[in-house]
Amino acid sequence: MKLLVTGGAGYVGSACSARLVEAGHEVVVVDDLSTGHADAVPEGCRLVQADVADVANTLLGEGFDGVLHYAAKSLVGESMQDPAKYWHGNVVTSLRLLDAMREHGTPRLVFSSTAAVYGEPDEVPIPETAPTRPTNTYGATKLAVDHMITSYAAAHGLAATSLRYFNVAGAHGRYGERHAIETHLIPIVLQVATGQRDQVQIYGEDWDTEDGTCVRDYIHVTDLADAHLLAIENATPGQHAIYNLGNGTGFSVRQVIEACRTATGHKIPAQTAPRRAGDPAVLVASSDRARTELGWKPERTDIATIVEDAWDFTRSR
Ligand code: UDP
Repeated sequence: MKLLVTGGAGYVGSACSARLVEAGHEVVVVDDLSTGHADAVPEGCRLVQADVADVANTLLGEGFDGVLHYAAKSLVGESMQDPAKYWHGNVVTSLRLLDAMREHGTPRLVFSSTAAVYGEPDEVPIPETAPTRPTNTYGATKLAVDHMITSYAAAHGLAATSLRYFNVAGAHGRYGERHAIETHLIPIVLQVATGQRDQVQIYGEDWDTEDGTCVRDYIHVTDLADAHLLAIENATPGQHAIYNLGNGTGFSVRQVIEACRTATGHKIPAQTAPRRAGDPAVLVASSDRARTELGWKPERTDIATIVEDAWDFTRSR
């Protein structure tokens, strides 16, 4: 298939583009490089450096079999301080993209959604039927796009899938995480091992969990990329499928730090810090629906593999 990948110079977008190319698809990446990196775009992909909202209509006029939409603003804290950036960057841009797809009859869409649409869960593992009550603007904008896609699929026959990621981690070969502003646990811990930070702060050790630290569902980016491949290849016209993507197992902040100590051989000093606003104690996905309907099975579920792959990537840079 000829596929348009928005945000294909970012962490998840580049890993997924690489996976699509490996599977034999033709990939055109559109990315404004505001947070992505041109050298992260896989060999064999054409890169169009532009804002998706500006070029979607012209590009889709070339004729594409599908779009994988990763381009987004994704910093939770920033989304609370500068909501307009998120409503424009995530919602308005996605609407332009959907309109362009409709105009040119682009049949398939896979959208990068997020576990942040659920907010504080009533039950864990979290199923797709859980109430959606985002606690931040980032999650609210992603949920708004999910709603747009549902209505466009029903009215215009689009074959659409939203994939709601939990904590994406690890690296797919040379495609890994390198954000200018790093807020995620694993890259922060690895920055201690490379000497870029002195220590890691643990945001609260008095949570109602086994070791007192927060538990998250870390999903390997290669497993995530496999789910995108299945989603774009198996979408049904007129339907909007929604799948949670997680590993099904939670790991605590302490377990992650310990896995990083083992992978790096560095002692990685850690210090207790106050809880971070908006953090729930436990977030773990139920990915049963993705397993049964998409036939997806995550293969890299242990925290040691996830951290080792992230470390190989970090060391290679
Ligand atoms: N965390 C931490 N110290 C850090 C960064 C994160 O203790 O320097 C914790 C955070 O409170 C959460 C978990 O690690 O419980 C994962 O955080 P991350 O920001 O990676 O992902 P989130 O779950 O917020 O999407």
